[in-house]
Amino acid sequence: MNLIAQRPSEWNAVVGQPRAVTVLQAILNNKHLMLRGFLFHGFLGVGKTTTAYLLARALMCQGDDPLGCGKCDSCLRIAETGIDSHSDFKEIDAALYSGVDKAREIMELWGTQTPNFSKRRVIVIDEAHRLSPEAWDVFLKPLEQGNFRTTLIFVSNKADSIAGTIRSRCTQIPFELVHLDTVVGLLANVANRNNITYELDALRLIARHTKGIIRDAVNALGSAAALGLVSVEHVKVIIDTSLEDVCIKLMLAIAARNQKAAIELADEVGRKARPAKAIEMMFSIYGRAVFAEADPNILPIYVGLPETGDVTALFIKWATTPNLPSNIMPLVAFELLKLHGSPTERKARQRAQKAQGGALGSTTGTIKELLRIAPPEGVAVEDIPPTKPSEMPDAIITPQVAAPEEIAAFLSDEPEPMLDGLVKDMVEVAAKGIPVAEVEDEPVAAERHVFVPSGDADGYEDDPM
Ligand SMILES: [Zn+2]
Repeated sequence: MNLIAQRPSEWNAVVGQPRAVTVLQAILNNKHLMLRGFLFHGFLGVGKTTTAYLLARALMCQGDDPLGCGKCDSCLRIAETGIDSHSDFKEIDAALYSGVDKAREIMELWGTQTPNFSKRRVIVIDEAHRLSPEAWDVFLKPLEQGNFRTTLIFVSNKADSIAGTIRSRCTQIPFELVHLDTVVGLLANVANRNNITYELDALRLIARHTKGIIRDAVNALGSAAALGLVSVEHVKVIIDTSLEDVCIKLMLAIAARNQKAAIELADEVGRKARPAKAIEMMFSIYGRAVFAEADPNILPIYVGLPETGDVTALFIKWATTPNLPSNIMPLVAFELLKLHGSPTERKARQRAQKAQGGALGSTTGTIKELLRIAPPEGVAVEDIPPTKPSEMPDAIITPQVAAPEEIAAFLSDEPEPMLDGLVKDMVEVAAKGIPVAEVEDEPVAAERHVFVPSGDADGYEDDPM
């Protein structure tokens, strides 16, 4: 089912681009402000071409409505046979015709003659960044002139590579990624219009995985509809959600302090995707758990990992570490598991680290420690230089022990509550150098009001309201 061909023919049907629509309508209502060229730029598949067609219709309209009357010859032709067959409208794909010859041909044929039966002629140039410098020279001249009988609309998802001389002579209209709720609304509309039955969760799943790209979202809806009901199950046939599924399981295991399951799942995640991609996915799931109050399936992740600042810092650290080895995911899980504990325990850990002289964390230290824990193939742990105390990262526990034993213990089936034991050690160390009375509770900031269903908190304190 080709749903994408059903482009909106009215301004109010353009979704998710309020800024672009507002600016364009203002210009159409005040044509003395209009330049001869427009540059529509932004992500692929978010409505640039659709909006260019609406602008073209309005510019060609012979009626009184500046936004396009829908009744004049020009508007009626578009409604009946489509804009492509309108003799005053031309669309070229610069990916196919990037050279100077095509540009000259177009401007000679289309750029000078008076329109057949419209107010203006309109030329849309898709993928405009592909035009050669010589071709741009051909378009630059008319952009500088004041002939308003032909309007040029350049469309590009790489506007940065278009010369400043061109950009500054065009009205630049940015297009942004569409908000998730807006995409869900659009999908519901499209489904209703086409008698497609759907589950709302399936539309949410499509919207989330297509990340604000309307074209991809509508295509996924069409593909899922071909299987019958648009259900979560069918959408999962169309869109591979396996990475998200296993990342959610991993985050839930971490939040529930299920160390064994967490390490196994982390290993599975590591086999499914590059670490950078997996970490981005986990970060995004955590963000949803913090803010998506309506999704009880992932809420326990936030309940189990309520320290948003620490969790975010940890994800950002990993996300910005280049060239992560493929087997790093268990260590990421390990660090997340360590974030558990009461504020007292965390404070004690920090003080213990200070007492050990490892107060300053560093990326260099982290990487060295990572290499020791998961040495690259062909490299012996002994060959990796030890980390200096000043480089010692906050996030690696007692790295001098060269972690393998620690990791082995961690991976073993022993129900030994290693982290708890570790915290006790830390409290002891902290107590030696610092009076215990000083190891006070830190108030937990009320970062978010969250509804915790009764019985779902697994013994954790409810979020302070
Ligand atoms: Zn009209």
